[in-house]
Amino acid sequence: MNDIVVDVLIIGAGPSGCVASAYLKNNGISSKVVEKSKFPRFVIGESLLPRCMDHFEETGLLDCLMEQKFEIKAGARFLKNDIVCNFDFGKKHTPGWNYTWQVPRADFDNTLAKEIVKKGVDVSFGHEVTNVQFDENGHSITTIKNEEGEEYNIKAKFIIDSSGYGRVLPRLLDLEKSSTLNPNSAIYTHIKETERPEGVEGTLITFDVVKDEVWLWVIPFSNGNTSIGFVGPTEFIESFEGTNAEKMREMLKISDYYYDRLKNQEFLFEPHIIKNYSKAVKQLYGKGYALTGNSAEFLDPVFSSGVTFATESGLKAAKLITKELQGEKVDWEQDYTGYIMKGVDVFRTYVSEWYTGNLQKIFFHRPENPVIKEQICAVLAGYVWDETNPFVKNHNRLVKTVAKVIDMENEMAN
Ligand SMILES: Cc1cc2nc3c(=O)[nH]c(=O)nc-3n(C[C@H](O)[C@H](O)[C@H](O)COP(=O)(O)OP(=O)(O)OC[C@H]3O[C@@H](n4cnc5c(N)ncnc54)[C@H](O)[C@@H]3O)c2cc1C
Repeated sequence: MNDIVVDVLIIGAGPSGCVASAYLKNNGISSKVVEKSKFPRFVIGESLLPRCMDHFEETGLLDCLMEQKFEIKAGARFLKNDIVCNFDFGKKHTPGWNYTWQVPRADFDNTLAKEIVKKGVDVSFGHEVTNVQFDENGHSITTIKNEEGEEYNIKAKFIIDSSGYGRVLPRLLDLEKSSTLNPNSAIYTHIKETERPEGVEGTLITFDVVKDEVWLWVIPFSNGNTSIGFVGPTEFIESFEGTNAEKMREMLKISDYYYDRLKNQEFLFEPHIIKNYSKAVKQLYGKGYALTGNSAEFLDPVFSSGVTFATESGLKAAKLITKELQGEKVDWEQDYTGYIMKGVDVFRTYVSEWYTGNLQKIFFHRPENPVIKEQICAVLAGYVWDETNPFVKNHNRLVKTVAKVIDMENEMAN
């Protein structure tokens, strides 16, 4: 087979790869997407954040998603010991989208992938990247294996690695780094809800804190199915015995709120377990490539930031590559790593402080402080670059300080 020559090779047709390729297509840059799986394919990550709507809108991918009538996510509910903390994206510090969706990813990703094909992006499904070599200018030759096991090469000026947990370039270029977050794991499945409550209760996305470091997600979809999953320290998830279904059934008993609703529901597939899911890399870019989405960094599912970072980083990488191909100078350290890590660091603080208990203290403290709540709500909506928000600008300090004040108030009250 002859070598294929493009400006940009994109590895993976998940949300990150789709947004990146749509931007490049809209701006006349030649690209090719190589995707290992045949779509539709299952992937976890079903609760989106309003911020990613900006990315779909900017790249012309919003209308096809709107047509799917996914379940509307207008906020998020957190439960602990009978206390309910409801965030409403309509009441947040930063202007922006007031809603997003709860999506079965097989359908969602398939809709995006079909739309980029419709736009004229060249996508090869069932083709796997197996090797990459760079020359001193950052130009690459990538080896691809198709479904018949035949190999061919793609020559590109840039690679966007949006291979998710495939983590193609981090593996091939030895860029993997341990995450600084505690080792956590998850077990999850889908159910066909035959006993879904009527009205809002049946559609609400909920994070039920069943122990300080362990929580259950309940994500109802508009197709009548619901995603459920437990997240907690790896040793907690490993402490259950039996098949994955037996482990999951046993864990459901810990949720006072959901047990009755979920206990008799059939699992649509044997629950999956993903251990120690947090990932990090030594660098986000190099000569001729950028890492985006989960291939770059994954923190934790608790604030549903994964897809939004995938689209934010995919779009940013595509913009910077376009600039460079058009002859403009790009400062990748500042414009890519600096920008992306600013947002990642905000979420890293929130994830860490969730598991230290400081953030939970703020969420479940009564009475609520409406100003603080709107500022935190903007973070939970994914608007983590808005430095007018004190809970973004001073994320490191402010969560700890507010938790300390709550501790002092509690001490004085006792
Ligand atoms: C337990 C858990 C729960 C989560 N919950 C949420 C949530 O509620 N909300 C949220 O936003 N995020 C969540 N996430 C994160 C979410 O799954 C990811 O952040 C998101 O899917 C990343 O998108 P992506 O485009 O980077 O990669 P993906 O969507 O994973 O796509 C990568 C694609 O690359 C392809 N690929 C891999 N290797 C190769 C190869 N060698 N050659 C060619 N193609 C390849 C794959 O087949 C795949 O289609 C969760 C993650 C975990 C672990």
